[in-house]
Amino acid sequence: MALVLRRNLLSGLVTAGALPGLPGFQQQPPAPGNGVFLEGPATGQPHIGKVLLAVQAHSDDIALEASGTVAKLIEEGYTGYLVRATNDDMGDARGLGTMGTIGENVLGNERDNARIAEILGCKGHFDLNYNNHRMADVSLNELICRLIFLVRLVKADTVVCWDPWAHDEENPDHYTLARAVEAACWMAGRVHDYPEQFAAGLQPKTVQDKYYFARRPEITRVVDVSKQIDKKVEVNRANVAKGPAGHLGSRLRAELARRNQRLPLLGDDDLAADRNYIGEFVMASSRELGKQYGVGYAEAFHYIAPGASGADRDPRVDTYVKEHSVTLK
Ligand SMILES: [Zn+2]
Repeated sequence: MALVLRRNLLSGLVTAGALPGLPGFQQQPPAPGNGVFLEGPATGQPHIGKVLLAVQAHSDDIALEASGTVAKLIEEGYTGYLVRATNDDMGDARGLGTMGTIGENVLGNERDNARIAEILGCKGHFDLNYNNHRMADVSLNELICRLIFLVRLVKADTVVCWDPWAHDEENPDHYTLARAVEAACWMAGRVHDYPEQFAAGLQPKTVQDKYYFARRPEITRVVDVSKQIDKKVEVNRANVAKGPAGHLGSRLRAELARRNQRLPLLGDDDLAADRNYIGEFVMASSRELGKQYGVGYAEAFHYIAPGASGADRDPRVDTYVKEHSVTLK
């Protein structure tokens, strides 16, 4: 899980202890420029016919880091699928979500994740059901094989996932999953890897491009998600079990009311409180990143462009053959 809330934004608004457990982490901002490509809104639906596989370890990963981009790509024509690798049974830090038993965490996050897939406009979603925080000793080959199967099944062209090579990552689920995804994106296109899947009707399929997100991203692409920000708020509002959005706004509103206080920001009902809280605090990092790139809201990625896997013949060979081949007499 990565967090976007900032202590300094909150310290002037609520008394100490009103929001326990807020972490200090925030995504490190990039240096503007430096050849970073700004992906703006597309005209029409240029991605019709293409398939997007959004892969996350936990129910809050895509929501916080990339839900604007996933929503944008689906709106622009992609058929989307959401994969969640763990069952989120470890819940989350105190004060960020809904505290419960391990079993309650599993059920709550399962429901939240299904709702998130629906809000994002996904055609389907898959839960791989590994234990939360325990993916470090999952067989890497098993995980790669399951992901190859999914890539071939949905015929994925593009993947959104954690960056397998990013710095400062603490959570073993994130980097274990990400490394398996990277291998699967390439191996799924090869004819000798798991050929029994072809006997079952699948075909080789190489993933073309990848949007990698991270706590400290190596940013090569920034996506303008201004048009999708309301959807990003709704996706995060659906993360009730894990947070850190969910119902924190209405919870804070109730807590203030018990002390005969209110925040105009939180409106007059629980729905407004949740939405406005998320818009102000949870969307703060997207807003700050957007400001650096001259747009309203943005998300940052280490983008791997089509052809990077090297699976295809170097196009320079074909160019050379065309220019230099001699017809035999
Ligand atoms: Zn996570």
